[in-house]
This record gives sequence, C-alpha cells and structure tokens, in this order.
Amino acid sequence: MGEAMTEPFSAAALRETVTGPVLEPGDDGYDAEVVSFNLNLPLRPALAVGVTSVADVQAAVRFAARHRMPVAVRASGHQAAKDVRGAVLINTSRMDGVRIDAPNRRARVEAGVLWAAAVAAAAEHGLAPMSGSAPTVSAIGYTLGGGQSPVFGRSEGYAADHVHLVEIVTADGQLRQVTADSDPDLFWAVRGGKGNMGVVTAIEFDLFPVTEFYGGGLHFAGERMADVLRVWRTWAPSLPEQATTSVAVLRYPPVPDLPEPLRGAFVLHVRYSYLGEAAEGERLLAPIRAVAEPLIDGVRTLPYTQNALIHLDPPGPEAFFDRTTTLREFTPEVLEALIGFAGPDSGNPLLGLEIRALGGALDREPAVPNAVPSRGIPYMMWGLGVGGQDQADLLGSWLDRMVETFAPWVFDERRMVNFLSKDQATTAAQVRLAYGAERYDRLARIKRRVDPDNVFRLNHNVEPA
Ligand SMILES: Cc1cc2nc3c(=O)[nH]c(=O)nc-3n(C[C@H](O)[C@H](O)[C@H](O)COP(=O)(O)OP(=O)(O)OC[C@H]3O[C@@H](n4cnc5c(N)ncnc54)[C@H](O)[C@@H]3O)c2cc1C
Repeated sequence: MGEAMTEPFSAAALRETVTGPVLEPGDDGYDAEVVSFNLNLPLRPALAVGVTSVADVQAAVRFAARHRMPVAVRASGHQAAKDVRGAVLINTSRMDGVRIDAPNRRARVEAGVLWAAAVAAAAEHGLAPMSGSAPTVSAIGYTLGGGQSPVFGRSEGYAADHVHLVEIVTADGQLRQVTADSDPDLFWAVRGGKGNMGVVTAIEFDLFPVTEFYGGGLHFAGERMADVLRVWRTWAPSLPEQATTSVAVLRYPPVPDLPEPLRGAFVLHVRYSYLGEAAEGERLLAPIRAVAEPLIDGVRTLPYTQNALIHLDPPGPEAFFDRTTTLREFTPEVLEALIGFAGPDSGNPLLGLEIRALGGALDREPAVPNAVPSRGIPYMMWGLGVGGQDQADLLGSWLDRMVETFAPWVFDERRMVNFLSKDQATTAAQVRLAYGAERYDRLARIKRRVDPDNVFRLNHNVEPA
C-alpha cells in the first residue's frame, strides 16, 4: 500500500544516522533481517533497519515520516499482519536487554527480547513473568496484544494488566516515557492497541515469585477425543483460578523431532497448569487422567523455565494459515460440532484446532484499565493449517468452515488480537469489530493525537479518527 506514496529515498543517508544495518532488497543480509515466522507472509520491505538503540528507532521513524513511508515492526515475526512492501521495517531483535529488579519484583525488557530470555533472567532471582505458550514470541509484541499466559492468566489477568511503564517512539520521532500518571490515554491505548501507537522500545512489568508449577500436557489417541472432551467440557469451568487448561485436536506431521507415538499421529492434547501444591494439582487433574490411558502423560512438577512443555508450540518458522474465533459456552452441541468438524471421520486437513478456556482474572478490569478487548470471553478458538500457497484454497476453506461451524456459539464479535490473523483484520471495519466499537473509537482518537498520518498502519490497524 505504501509503495505508491513513497517518495524517493537514499538508504545511504539513513545508514549515516543508524548504527545497525540498513538493507535494501538484494543486499547481503536482507533476507535474514526480514525473516517471518509464517513463511506464507514474507516480509519484503523497501528498507529493513536492524535497530540497536532508541536513537536508531528514532532515526528510522523520522526517515520514514520524511519520505512518507509506513513503518512496520518485527521482533520475532510471529504475527505478520500486513504486506510491508514499500515500508521501513524496524527489526528490533538486537535490542535484547533484560533487567530484573528483584526486590520490587519487576522486569524491564527491550523491544527484541523473546520470552525465553526474559523467563531465564527472572528465574535467576526465583521469579517468573506472565509469558505465553511459545518461548520464541517477543515479550513486548505479546504484551501489547494483551498477552494470555497459560500459567498466570486466570489468576493474574492479562500481561498488559501488569505493565508499569512503556517507552515508545511515536510518529514524530519523540521518545515518550508513558505511565498511568504521565499520559493516561496513551498508557491505556498502548496496552492492548498493539503497534498502532508507535515503536515500543522498552516496557517494565511485574514478576511473580514462582519457580515451579504442576503442569504439562496429556496426549490422548484422537479416537478417544469425544470421551475426553465430554469430561473436559464440564471439568474446565469447575477449576479454580490457579488452574488453566486448553485442548488441541492435532494432526501431527510425520517428522522425526516428535517422539514416536506422536509422529504422524491424530491426537487430542490436553494442556494443564496449576499454581500451587503439586498434590492438589494432581487431585484436580484426576478426572481427565481417569478417562483413558494417554499416549504420553507429560504432566508433572516442572521448573517455570520449562513452561513451553505445556503447549509444545513449533520452535521454528512454518508456512501456515490461521483463524480465530470465540465460544460463549461449551455445550454438548458444541462438542458434537467439534467432533463433526475435526473428529476421526472429518477428513480435516488442519494441523490443529485449539480451544483455550479463559475466565478468572482474564475477565476482570485491571487496576489501571487498558485497551485489551477480550475480557469476558469464556473460550478462545484458534485453527492452524500448515502448508504453502499451493494449499491456500484448501486450508483457507477449512479455516472459514471452522468460523462458520462454531458461529452459533460465538461469544460476540470481539477477538483476542494476539490470535487475529492477517485475513481477519484487513479492513478497519474488521478491526473495529475485533476491538468493539467504543474501544476502537477511543483508540482512533488517541491515534489521531500520536500518529495522525497513520505511519504505523502495517498492523491490525486502527485508523486515526
Ligand atoms: C505458536 C504461537 C503461540 C502463541 N501463544 C500465545 C499465548 O500463549 N498467548 C498470547 O497472548 N499470544 C500467543 N501468541 C500470539 C503472539 O502473542 C502474537 O503473535 C504476537 O503478536 C507476537 O509478537 P512478536 O513481537 O513476537 O511478533 P512480530 O510478528 O514480530 O510482531 C507482531 C506485531 O506486534 C507489534 N509489535 C511487536 N513488537 C513491537 C514493538 N516493539 N513496538 C510496537 N509494536 C510491536 C507489531 O504490530 C507487529 O506487527 C502465539 C503465537 C504463536 C504463533
């Protein structure tokens, strides 16, 4: 989109003001600089800037504004939301500073820090952050979209609810330190509004005194999925807030890095975590264990540094298509629809269909309200089909079918923005639905103040009011 508006620019001029690499298509290192986690959404910007400091970010943003180029941000590349041709892409991965303030149980992370690094740094002090299922996701990208932790979410809320300070470079190139007191509107907007307000260079957030938890995953043979889900359906809502669970119907590829019983297998994966005494966590899980003998029972006391074992998300880039929706309830009719859509006889080609049970503190407004739109949604559903462009029609039609199949039970039009795919947020109208009209309109008014020209539009875009 930005290509038509772009004015002539000289990459050499930007190189003079930026310490990190400034690369154009065809330059050595360009491909590595722009790599996307989703190989179906390649990032091919006019300029890739490997920022190393706030000053680099400011120079890149000012350069883009001067040449009427949009700015895109990439930390891990997990959620490419728009085609970035013609843009300046800021790659934050070199800004990897993590500072732990143990006495105050706080962390400060820079823009490129991935959860794995923040978790490891906090663990050295007996603390843990509200990280997500995938350790290779960036702490800031995740937190700006809310951030639903499979361990802490139901007892503590969204990661965005526990942020104290945001440092952000806005479209005018200014670095702003934003707190609840300094700029309440921008502080509200940036926590949930994703990359719409500018490039966040650092955030400070709460840590929790947790070194281990009881949890992991149970893989059941797919043929037992109805039996297990019949129990999970009533069991999940009965759990206390210290316990979190999700399920995924998975058709694993026959790849060697999976253990033998899972290689090429059709399974139901029950994920579980409990923050408290292991014996109580075990007692709570007993009804699920009693349904059937699992292929693998990986639930045990785990150090928090191994929290990625709960979901076992893929570590490296994949070519995939995805969609998200929500459920207001998990009734016997939903279960029947799920078996029909993804069960043993469905012929479903998707790699996975995941349902996360939310609730608890994820439903409650935080002490300092923010723009996270997904509060109150009981279940989040995420479908993922792995395959390249030659499978786009097939996988896309199954993903559309997923949304249609469960439409009778959808909660409302709001979505968890961290799981909103490029295809579900192409227009402002779609993004407005995902945020809810009132929240979107407030975001749009704040956006008009800090980014009136919509320089930051290559995201789930909120247009300036
Ligand atoms: C396998 C997998 C598991 C996941 N698990 C969870 C989970 O458990 N809970 C959850 O809540 N989410 C989860 N997510 C979603 C994840 O939080 C989003 O994909 C998130 O956007 C990734 O952020 P990123 O910075 O790593 O990705 P990127 O693709 O690098 O960035 C995504 C977007 O975030 C914004 N952004 C990133 N950094 C900045 C910055 N410094 N300043 C301004 N904007 C920025 C930009 O708009 C950018 O387009 C998962 C995703 C995947 C693929």
